[in-house]
Amino acid sequence: MRQSANGDSQAAPSTGPEGFLRFIDVKKSYDRKTLVVKGFDLDVAKGEFITLLGPSGSGKTTVLMLLAGFESVTGGDILIGGAPITRTAPNKRNIGIVFQNYALFPHMTVAENLAYPLKARKVARSTIKARVAEYLSLVELGDFGTRHPSQLSGGQRQRVALARALIFEPSLVLMDEPLGALDKKLREQMQFEITRLHQQLGFTVIYVTHDQTEALTMSDRIAVFNDGVVQQCATPDELYERPGNAFVADFIGENNMVPGKVVAVENGAVRVSISGEQHVVTQVADTKDIGSNCIVSVRPEKIFLDANEAHDNEIWARFMVRHYVGDFIRYYFELHDGTELTVKALNDITAPKFQKGERARLMWQRDDCFAFHTQQ
Ligand code: ADP
Ligand code: MG
Repeated sequence: MRQSANGDSQAAPSTGPEGFLRFIDVKKSYDRKTLVVKGFDLDVAKGEFITLLGPSGSGKTTVLMLLAGFESVTGGDILIGGAPITRTAPNKRNIGIVFQNYALFPHMTVAENLAYPLKARKVARSTIKARVAEYLSLVELGDFGTRHPSQLSGGQRQRVALARALIFEPSLVLMDEPLGALDKKLREQMQFEITRLHQQLGFTVIYVTHDQTEALTMSDRIAVFNDGVVQQCATPDELYERPGNAFVADFIGENNMVPGKVVAVENGAVRVSISGEQHVVTQVADTKDIGSNCIVSVRPEKIFLDANEAHDNEIWARFMVRHYVGDFIRYYFELHDGTELTVKALNDITAPKFQKGERARLMWQRDDCFAFHTQQ
């Protein structure tokens, strides 16, 4: 499986040839010169919730467009149920779509909007009526059928769009930043709604977002994109706990990224010198070339300031600033060479206080840090 930029073996477990949806070496160029999707491979099991996560311009929407059939592939194949769909017309793919800018019909009522995909599929009138009522109540808009979209709030409109994408009971639903226009509270509510409907109805979802919290909370698996290449495809906790390379470590959650040099590889660990003087041991990730530059990543919540137990790594740093956040406290330290390190500690009685410039001991376990190739 070509899942990773650096050829490591962190790829997600394949669902095998019986996978419901498969992308095989899919490539896309809009200008016949540059590839914006560079050999995308992914096996999706029926009923899975897969998220494509990555910065703006990394190729996520393009992958959805190829799957929906609004753009054609430059190379490779897309299979649903084992059959290639690359030559199937968009309206024959039977895919539900919710895009941020995929507006409702403004001149139709909510009920008419929902009936539209059923009418287009020549469903019997009596069935349509019942189905519209069913889906209105499913998205908790039972009393809103006679309203027009302009008479709804943003969140309600998005729920109508969701119901309209699901009402013809497609087995595959594509969502491209469907909650991007909503404020935080509504977005979280809708995330919950979408996962609830996904669990209740059992359709397969390919979801696109650049919001990592959204991806982590909603998905079975996440494919992290950068520059048209999947960096890693894994479950949310695997991505967080075992990032495959420096890009993923930096993109998912918060990480200290400390420049260093590989000194030795011993007992399944990498020994790295950081700040020119101190040594730390890390898990083996994607680099173990002795003498090469690397990045040591360790999460702020994995560093301890007050040790009641032994830690594999102990380094000294100068205390700079302490930010009171409420439920936790954030400390900023500086290494000898000026590299900054952030530490998050729970706001309880053990949270220490330092004088500015004071030397402090920072400790963490080998299993909580990784040495990665420096990104070009
Ligand atoms: P994302 O959804 O991750 O932000 P896109 O798939 O929209 O990324 O875009 C990937 C790259 O392809 C970008 O460089 C973008 O400018 C380019 N691109 C997207 N759509 C088109 C198009 N219709 N014509 C030409 N270039 C496009
Ligand atoms: Mg996009």
